[in-house]
Amino acid sequence: MRIGVPKEVKIQEYRVGLLPAGVSALVGMGHEVVVESKAGSRIGYPDEVYRQAGAAIAPSPEAAWDTDLVVKVKEPQPQEYDFLRPGQLLFTYLHLAPAPDLTKALLEHETIGIAYETVTDAQGALPLLTPMSEVAGRLSVQAGATALQMIDGGIGTLLGGVPGVAPGKVLILGGGVVGTQAARMALGLGADVSILDINLQRLRQLDDLFGPRLKTRHADRHTLETLSREADLLIGAVLIPGRQAPKLISREMVRGMKPGTVLVDVAIDQGGCAETSRPTTHEQPTYVEEGVVHYCVSNMPGAVARTSTQALTQATLPYVLEIAGKGWTRALQENAGLLAGLNVFRGMVTNRAVAEDLGFTY
Ligand code: NAD
Repeated sequence: MRIGVPKEVKIQEYRVGLLPAGVSALVGMGHEVVVESKAGSRIGYPDEVYRQAGAAIAPSPEAAWDTDLVVKVKEPQPQEYDFLRPGQLLFTYLHLAPAPDLTKALLEHETIGIAYETVTDAQGALPLLTPMSEVAGRLSVQAGATALQMIDGGIGTLLGGVPGVAPGKVLILGGGVVGTQAARMALGLGADVSILDINLQRLRQLDDLFGPRLKTRHADRHTLETLSREADLLIGAVLIPGRQAPKLISREMVRGMKPGTVLVDVAIDQGGCAETSRPTTHEQPTYVEEGVVHYCVSNMPGAVARTSTQALTQATLPYVLEIAGKGWTRALQENAGLLAGLNVFRGMVTNRAVAEDLGFTY
């Protein structure tokens, strides 16, 4: 099989879909791998290392896209739509529910698209979303702590406090992978941390994991409203797989927060969980609305692209090897978890949540 690895084109995105170790495994199986020049150079993987692993280096995107299987990180950007071709398998994050234009482009080009974020494992968990959620969760506290500084418009709270001064209050909405990693970092900094979830079983697990230092609360509207008024940093980390994020934080609630509070809406890649959230980029990560500093970067892990690529590719590579080894038809037939990742197939939307959210037939 011919496998292509284009250089990512999203603003400030330096992650790459395959590392040299992956190339070498694929080439060892008899496949051909075409990597676009400089795809990994910014994170310490220059062309030469890919070449030594057996890749052909393409000077431009065309050759990397002119392949049977394209392995990427981010969803195709508008300037990449014309590279899509019928019958080609695209393996990447897609996040289609909030992206009708991209969905239309994939349907028009009859792309077979497997979205990392809806691939499931035997436990029903999301093994290809997890590594990036781990990164984003840990990063959300760093980003929030920075935005709390005066220069970024924050209220000027040091999350850990100092002797004689109470620590800052961190409120995390959603206690899944992002929420758990955010809690770990915020507790590590010495902040006063509360976490909200609707899943009581999850709250029990979090209580076992962190003990009394972490306050767990059921995520009802009243609790969210009350705690958000006191918070210095609010982290949005909810997910209903495949769907647009529920708008749990209303504009009214944002208005009720202290001026200079920071809202890091990690769920922005699914549309965001606050009414006031809109996507931002690493170039201009924050904006102030209703007096609250919003950080809504939809590709947060891109900020630490080297760690993120290593974490992502160690999870995606076994699937790439399976697809290349068996061919996509057999791989999808034999691996129900991979099939759950199939979001578009030759002009049809094949993920129920995406179809329902965007009004397509399923
Ligand atoms: P997860 O499935 O592990 O956790 C989501 C949690 O939200 C679950 O515990 C669930 O019970 C809870 N939840 C659902 N509805 C809720 C509600 N109404 N109130 C309170 N809690 C609710 O998901 P995750 O891996 O932690 O991902 C969280 C979000 O972060 C997703 O939208 C994901 O796509 C996003 N994400 C964004 C970036 C980025 O760069 N911005 C990176 C990685 C992940």
